[in-house]
This record gives sequence, C-alpha cells and structure tokens, in this order.
Amino acid sequence: MTEKLDIKTIRNDFPILSRTVYDRPLIYLDNAATTQKPRCVVEAIEHVYYHQNANIHRGVHYLSQRATVAHETARATVRDFIHATSSNEIVFTRGTTEAINLLATSYGETFCNEGDEIIISTMEHHANIVPWQMLRDRKGIKLKIIPLTDLGELDMTAFEALLSEKTKLVSVAHVSNVLGTINPVKEIIEKAHARNIPVLIDGAQAVSHMPVDVQQLDADFYVFSGHKMYGPNGIGVLYGKEKWLDILPPYHGGGEMIAHVTFEKTTFADLPFKFEAGTPDYVGSVALAAAMNYLSSFGMENIAAYENDLLLDATQKMMKIDGMHIYGTSPRKSSVISFLVNDIHPFDMGTLLDRLGIAVRTGHHCAMPLMSALDIDGTLRASFAFYNTHEEIDALIAGIERVIKMF
Ligand code: PLP
Repeated sequence: MTEKLDIKTIRNDFPILSRTVYDRPLIYLDNAATTQKPRCVVEAIEHVYYHQNANIHRGVHYLSQRATVAHETARATVRDFIHATSSNEIVFTRGTTEAINLLATSYGETFCNEGDEIIISTMEHHANIVPWQMLRDRKGIKLKIIPLTDLGELDMTAFEALLSEKTKLVSVAHVSNVLGTINPVKEIIEKAHARNIPVLIDGAQAVSHMPVDVQQLDADFYVFSGHKMYGPNGIGVLYGKEKWLDILPPYHGGGEMIAHVTFEKTTFADLPFKFEAGTPDYVGSVALAAAMNYLSSFGMENIAAYENDLLLDATQKMMKIDGMHIYGTSPRKSSVISFLVNDIHPFDMGTLLDRLGIAVRTGHHCAMPLMSALDIDGTLRASFAFYNTHEEIDALIAGIERVIKMF
C-alpha cells in the first residue's frame, strides 16, 4: 500500500518543508492545527489573481464569467471529493467554526425550543461546543455530553441512553483533534436516524486523512476547513443534505443570497447561494479544489495507510520512553499523538523541542472540557501529515529524550 507514495517527491511539492529553523531542518508536526501548502495550491491563488480576478456571479464581462466558472467548478470538485449528491449541498464558509455557527443559528433557531436537547461529546473542539452553548442561552435548550471510555473512545452505551424524544441534533467530531480517536460516526448516525434525529459531523480532522463519503455515512451535515487539508486559510465547507438546506433559513443577509429585494420583503436565492451572503472567497475555493485534486492524485486510502504507519511507528517508539503518557489509546486512531512526560510542563518541552527545529503544539488544543475530564491542564501534541517521514519521528524521539535529560 504505502510504497505507492513517493514521500521525497511529495515533500518537494511543499517548499516550506526544506527551510531551517534555528539552523536546523524544520520538522513540522503541528498538522492538526494547520497543514503546509503544496506549490499547486499557492500557484492556484497566484493564477486567479494574475489571470482571472473579477467578482463572480453578477458580471457579464469575460473575466467575471471565467472567475464564476472556476468558482463553480471548485464547488463541483468539493462535491466529488466528499461524494455529495449535488453541488447544491456544498456551501462555502470561512471554515469549520463558521459552518457550525451557521447551523447553530439556522437549524438551532428553527428547530430547537426550550427543553429540547442537543448531544455533543466530551472530546469536542470548542468550535463544536460554544455555538451550542450560545444557542442554549438563547433558547433554553440542554446540552447532553457523551462521556469517554478509558481508551478515549465515545462511550456508545451512554450515547444510546442519551437519545430521547427531546433530542433535536447530535453533533460530534469524526476524529478528535486531541486523542486522535476515529469515532464510529456511521453507527452514531444510524442510531440517531432510527429516532429521526439528524446528525452533524465535524470533519475538521478527518477529511485530509481518510476517504470521506457523506452519502455512505448518511450524514445530514458534514463540516470542515480548507487550511487543515493543504488548502488555503479562510475557506471551509458546510455539506448539508438538500432536504435540510432547503428548509433552513439563511444565516447572513446581504448580496448574493437574494432573489428579489424590496424595502418590504426579500426573497432568497436558490441553494447553495441562500447561505453565501456577500462576495464569496472565489480565490480560496479554487485553491481548495487544487488541494483536493492534489490529494486525490495520491488516493486517500494510500494517504490513510501511510499515515497509519507513521502513527504506529511513533506510538511504539514513544511508549518505550520512561515516564511517557499518551492520551488516547484507541485502536482506531488518526495520526495525532497527545502526550506528557513525567511532570515536565508541556510548554517547557514544546519550547525546547522548538529549539531543535521540531514544531509540536502545546496546551489545551481548544478542548478545555476534555482537559478537565482528563484532569490535566494541557498536553504536547505531535500530529502527522503524509509529508512527514519515519526519520522525523526518530528526530522527535531523540528530541524528547534529550529534553528529559535536561530535567
Ligand atoms: N473542529 C475540530 C475537530 C478541530 O480540530 C478544529 C480546529 O482545530 C476546528 C473544529 C475548528 O476549525 P477552524 O478553526 O478551521 O474553524
């Protein structure tokens, strides 16, 4: 499987990976926060600005039409990448966070009333907690939280017990940005659908690591960010089944999202434009499509298999380090390892690793309730992308051992 990827050639597509920091080769292991960008993505941005920049949709002139076609072709690329049924189901947003806020307002205000319940989980990113809390405070709903097992998996028995007539939505991460756990989202969706409850999947940590097929999952909503999948910052996607998006009210009002406006009344545009007020990021969409085409050229199964090799290699080697504690030990994991060593503060170790050229993340990873559940303030987190190598893992291990000796 994994021989199919030529990592050396892939690394050459990412100019930043050959830079040094503090006179050492950069070892970038902060991919869960954001990924680096391949040349084709940066070139796509340059191409739009140099050759076809014009505001889209309303222009009769040549450039505007070219830019419109490029933007809508990008939407079709996204549709195919996650195997949606129709481009009408693909709404461009600023990212995962905006997509969840859109739903918390549009779905939440329409379908949730006092006493209703929304189910999320202990391992959610703040982006999948705070918008629901804001809705709770506006509408008097309740948040129900799925607890975790010792392996850092969702407690599925507890989940089933939380489902009730009052449940209006289940919203969970596909992959945890801290524990790396790949959640059984298909099963979650099946269980919720058996009670006619729609499900929102936060795919921010999944789409760049494994094949995602929204039809096969039968997800009602699936959201993700471009910058975590080798695409540009500032663009993301809300996938929604057409039957839902059709009946949900718009989120933001303004240009682009209207059919007709008078001072008395406005009628709204068809899908997906109803949810895209204002000038869209027609540069970001094209660059995101370039990232998706780039990933597709390797095959997401191959990327998943190679990253799994990296995960197993790193996990085995880290477990041999005295005093190592890894948070999240599910057998179904994506390439994220959160850890602490002895009582070394993650910030101290992160700073010293940085001086060795190794970029890892430290802190609560925007998952403070999860940190509370684990009874810690934060962790170090190494997160791998398909451009990382086994040599970089060895350098991480050597770096951790070196830091331990200093304490
Ligand atoms: N959900 C998860 C699981 C994440 O890991 C992140 C970012 O780390 C987000 C949501 C928020 O993504 P963004 O900041 O791109 O909107």
